[in-house]
Amino acid sequence: MILQSTIDAVNQRTDIVEVIGQFLQLKRRGINYLANCPFHNERTPSFNVNPARGIFKCFGCGKGGNAVTFVQEYEKLNYPEAIKWLADFYKIPIEETERSQEQLAQQQAEEGLRVVAEFAAGWFAETLQTTEEGQAIGLSYYKHRGIRTEAIETFRLGYCPESGHALYDAAVAKGYKTQLLEQLGLVRNRDGRYYDVYRGRVVFPIQGMTGRVIGFGARLLKANDRAPKYINSPENELYHKSRTLYGLYQARSAIGRVDECLLVEGYTDVISLHQSGVENVVASSGTSLTEEQLQLIGRLTKNVTILYDGDAAGIKAALRGLDMALESGFNVQLVLLPEGADPDSFVQAKGTDAFRTFIVENKRDVIGFRLEAGLKEAGNDPVLRSKLANEIAQSISRFTRPEDFTLRDHYLKTAATGLNVDMEGLNTLVNKHIRERIEGDDRKKNVVQTAQPIPEAAPVPSEATGQASTSQTAEEAQEWKLIGILLEHGGELAEETFTTAQVIEDRVDPELIVSPQVRQLFDEYLAAYRQRGGAPDLRAFVNHADPVLRQKVAGLLHPNDIVSVNWEEKYGIFIQQGPQRIPMEVESCLQYFELKKLKNMETILLQMLEGTTDLQTILETQAAYMQLKKEEKEIMQRHGTVILKTGL
Ligand SMILES: [Zn+2]
Repeated sequence: MILQSTIDAVNQRTDIVEVIGQFLQLKRRGINYLANCPFHNERTPSFNVNPARGIFKCFGCGKGGNAVTFVQEYEKLNYPEAIKWLADFYKIPIEETERSQEQLAQQQAEEGLRVVAEFAAGWFAETLQTTEEGQAIGLSYYKHRGIRTEAIETFRLGYCPESGHALYDAAVAKGYKTQLLEQLGLVRNRDGRYYDVYRGRVVFPIQGMTGRVIGFGARLLKANDRAPKYINSPENELYHKSRTLYGLYQARSAIGRVDECLLVEGYTDVISLHQSGVENVVASSGTSLTEEQLQLIGRLTKNVTILYDGDAAGIKAALRGLDMALESGFNVQLVLLPEGADPDSFVQAKGTDAFRTFIVENKRDVIGFRLEAGLKEAGNDPVLRSKLANEIAQSISRFTRPEDFTLRDHYLKTAATGLNVDMEGLNTLVNKHIRERIEGDDRKKNVVQTAQPIPEAAPVPSEATGQASTSQTAEEAQEWKLIGILLEHGGELAEETFTTAQVIEDRVDPELIVSPQVRQLFDEYLAAYRQRGGAPDLRAFVNHADPVLRQKVAGLLHPNDIVSVNWEEKYGIFIQQGPQRIPMEVESCLQYFELKKLKNMETILLQMLEGTTDLQTILETQAAYMQLKKEEKEIMQRHGTVILKTGL
């Protein structure tokens, strides 16, 4: 683990213009810098860098963050790797927490396996190209499968001879330990002699994210009833099947560029598509997607398209694992290939353009796919149809992030039409699932619940918006808005002599904040404000130690100054600025929390009413309730329009 002091030193030293300037041509525009965005294709620049805040933001594709985020995104690194990159760039010594004996041993074991794996991959490739047997059997197999020389090099394909122990002999002659060869699954001891496990097979080295070989897949060429057709490396310190995607190293830049990852089943599918110019493709090696594999893809894109050539049962099984992907905000699409075709045979027979067209025309989202298959199965059976409605509602309920609202609405509409049910009713079902899961999570985390649950706390009546209430998520969106306002305008004067932060501290009851993340940032901001006697340095939040919060903060900061420079010029949109806009935004946000508090108290009073028979208490409670209702009505009348505009 890198010490926080090193991370702080890196953040302090880092000049975002200097760092991004290493990769892009930045043009000065006012106090900002402008460039063509490296994360999406564009001709007029909408990629902005704000040196004062240390952040970048693209108004074309929405990517944004600090210098570390940029290095992560651009160089496809994870957070510690990006910190190391920057430390290296600024010649800052990296201090890490001391590794335990166990960690050191693990690292050494990995390093040893790495060296041997790299040697073996090189040896297989050389055997394929330079030996008579390699050429006659291995190369001719690849040629027969339509795999060209360039792809053979790109994927470092190789061959292991039939003789029995040629690799073993070569490795031992080089001084590599037998034990490591065994752990990698390359050799096996039989009756006191070592044999090559891959003998008579073509070999597909599996590369990790940085291109180094971590394992192997091998295919038998001659028919042999006793030997399996395919062999993969066993799990070891280096190779973890669930954390590996074949072809990811070769596909990584294409996936980022196209902003989509195609997922296929076989190694030859990957290679065949790659050499046909479809480079954004990986294989999960038979298993359905794991969470770790999703994380790997998630570093490059959120759009995953899965190509199936399987039967209905296989597809159904694979679909089950996809809720996780939906929940993590992935946009998952499915394509069913024509019967009898796999990606390799399809692209070789029909060509790249036909393949691309087929994918585009046959893409289905997970919910549409499920709906279609389910409807076919259910027919007119009312029981099966209602079971299906429930399943679909459960899937839709996975979309709980504010940024997925539109998608969720889209699915709700499609599903309601397909199932021929009332959208309002389906939405109620969806909300029920969301609530159940949140309650389940809370129990799991052993979170102390607030005294009164307030499921219907969203103050906007559904008639007014014409939309069914989506209280849970709207609630969260509103809470994040509060943080956005604090970060953007906390230090500005809002009411006479009070700043926005002071007004918010005065009028928002922190106990009403549901999201623990919002609550944390809220508390941290106000603590920093009090300590400093004014708005805290935003960099502390932009570089927050918690990666989730860091990302949230970067997403919230839509610097007005950046917007105005670019949008006016590019789209002719005039962004209203100045003191007019801010107080209204603040006011509507404050009213949300005030209304929520009223609703909360009303609920408590109603419960008191239910639980008492004492006439005096009943009368007093009723009076208090009426008073609350009156206040609520006043707020709604005064500011109804303002509240609606907050996007609830
Ligand atoms: Zn962009």
